[in-house]
Amino acid sequence: MVYNFAAGPSVLPKEVLLKAQDELLDYAGSGMSVMELTHRGSEFSSILSKAEATLRELMSIPDHYKVLFLQGGASTQFTMIPLNLAVGKKAYYIESGSFGKKAYTEAVKLSKVIDFEPISLGSTEKTKFDRLVKAVGKKENPHDECAYEINEIDPDAAYVHITLNNTIEGTAIYDLPDAHGVPLVGDMSSDILAVDYDVSKFALIYAGAQKNIGPAGVTVVIIREDFLPKKEILSSMLDYRVLSENDSLYNTPPTFGIYMAGLVFDWVKAQGGVKALEAKNRKKAALLYDFIDQSEFYQSPVKNKAERSICNVPFTTGDQSFDQAFIAFADEKGFKNIKGHRSVGGMRASIYNAFPYEGVLELVELMKTFEKEHTKHE
Ligand SMILES: *Cc1c(COP(=O)(O)O)cnc(C)c1O
Repeated sequence: MVYNFAAGPSVLPKEVLLKAQDELLDYAGSGMSVMELTHRGSEFSSILSKAEATLRELMSIPDHYKVLFLQGGASTQFTMIPLNLAVGKKAYYIESGSFGKKAYTEAVKLSKVIDFEPISLGSTEKTKFDRLVKAVGKKENPHDECAYEINEIDPDAAYVHITLNNTIEGTAIYDLPDAHGVPLVGDMSSDILAVDYDVSKFALIYAGAQKNIGPAGVTVVIIREDFLPKKEILSSMLDYRVLSENDSLYNTPPTFGIYMAGLVFDWVKAQGGVKALEAKNRKKAALLYDFIDQSEFYQSPVKNKAERSICNVPFTTGDQSFDQAFIAFADEKGFKNIKGHRSVGGMRASIYNAFPYEGVLELVELMKTFEKEHTKHE
């Protein structure tokens, strides 16, 4: 038995893999594999439209939003978003994690050649992103980088960019921040379909597929129609309007990845939908956090309990050599990929939608065994 705690690409539902295996050589009586189907044919066209319809249903995506299946990963969105939405305007960024910082850094790069003004509202990098940047009415300390005043935000700005779940650091936003009426743009790469968010609160949502949606290679973008660019931009491949007018078929889309995503969407639906999975994810995460909290051996690097991610749970022993020993011990017992990100160290249990509750139960047992064998000496 193997439990895969990888942060992404990550565990997929067994039922989905079996279904894909079953259909691999002959998709729906076509005599061809999905991988062999033309993206212009009727078989693929129904795969694409069904995947979109199911995602719309699962996330209650309103009709005036477009759903796109693109390539380039979430990281390409760091450039596409300002290029499409921010020209001639200000665009705000909240840096509560490494990916939020990357989004801002890429925007700054782009602003050297395209006219817009990226502004960071705050960063918690000084404390290794162990907490979220806070929205406040008035800052106690004007130099506090970890908070922003809501009034600082120019209501005419293009957007405020947030990362819903900080995959590396293990923090997450559950109550959307006050953005002074400016539309939100959300990187939902690591908790899309795992946490029930209100799509209508966003101008744009994006997510790389490889955490909660399917294999790497697909990026989902959900964009409100009035945010599509009105004029042509730099490149058709980076233009949400062109991509959306062509229903994700401007060029060859990642066909097999979209098919897999569609199977995962069906699976999410069969599990009872996003609300039911969020409840299940909360139970899984609570099991692990409760154990960590009562233990004197393990700690969570996240500063505020209310900000803890239910998808990525980092923890440490506070001792690098113990951490290394734990990772090796876990690996040998079939608990794979539990090593934390190199920037944080320690361990990280990524327990996305497809990760089973029993795996978390067994991880806690493993942690108890390890603790017994490695009680620290004063
Ligand atoms: C994984 C991840 C990314 C990067 O995704 P790629 O598809 O590898 O570009 C960006 N943001 C968040 C929150 C992520 O978890």
